Amino acid sequence: GRPQRLSVQVHPYAGNRRMLLTRDVTALEQADAMRRDFVANVSHEIRTPLTVLTGFVETLQSLPLEADERARYLGLMGQQAQRMGTLVQDLLTLSRLEGSAPPPGHQWTRVRALLAHCEDEARGLSSRLSTQGHRLSFSLEADSELSGAATELQSAMSNLVSNAVRYTPPGGEVTVTWRLLSDGRGEFAVRDTGPGIAADHIPRLTERFYRVDRSRSRETGGTGLGLAIVKHIAQRHGAQLRIESTLGQGSRFMLVFPVARLRPARPQLVAA
Ligand code: ADP
Repeated sequence: GRPQRLSVQVHPYAGNRRMLLTRDVTALEQADAMRRDFVANVSHEIRTPLTVLTGFVETLQSLPLEADERARYLGLMGQQAQRMGTLVQDLLTLSRLEGSAPPPGHQWTRVRALLAHCEDEARGLSSRLSTQGHRLSFSLEADSELSGAATELQSAMSNLVSNAVRYTPPGGEVTVTWRLLSDGRGEFAVRDTGPGIAADHIPRLTERFYRVDRSRSRETGGTGLGLAIVKHIAQRHGAQLRIESTLGQGSRFMLVFPVARLRPARPQLVAA
């Protein structure tokens, strides 16, 4: 069989040398438990919308409904189907990033373009979530270029921005900035005036399916996989994901990239 590690611990409070023999859980057993947890989570996430969808199908089949009511049910069914679609999409993304995805490559991408796309998405999402909307601001200290895979960089940044919008109540503020640090690294930061996150949750946020507020996550179309995806993309690009938050005041999610290339200024016309 496989070798087992034995560890012997002396109980700190036992005066007479009482010993506890414990067998370390091997890495293999841990990996297996994690896999089982993951499958259970995925099944649960799929079963919930499926149950709702099945319920609507039965209702449509058994009740004579007015046209507008039918349309309403079909709309709700569409939402559930979309939710399952997003889940499958996120699972595939994550499995590609965790597995054998090729290294991201060295394509240069303009930060201005990444931010502009985040802004379009955030404005759309904010108006879909509430009529009141959010105060959104996007600013760039210096246009730079980042090396890596443009689609992945966009996905990581968009995830952080959409989380800020989704968890911040309407009327709140979301501020997105890009700046160069004095050591040449580049910092993408998303600050929000949302509910904030208690310190003990913060280290666990990038775990697959870990959620602080399950119902808010669901209501706004969350899969619980966003930050796990962000973490992997950050790792692949040598970037660091930093999270700071104060309960009741808001959160700051940052991606710190190793080197950002300053976008060369346009050649100036010099008067002779
Ligand atoms: P989800 O799809 O649930 O948003 P994520 O992996 O993106 O999944 O985030 C994990 C959890 O972290 C969320 O469910 C939420 O509880 C918490 N969270 C993420 N971003 C924020 C934020 N800006 N403010 C408050 N909570 C947040």
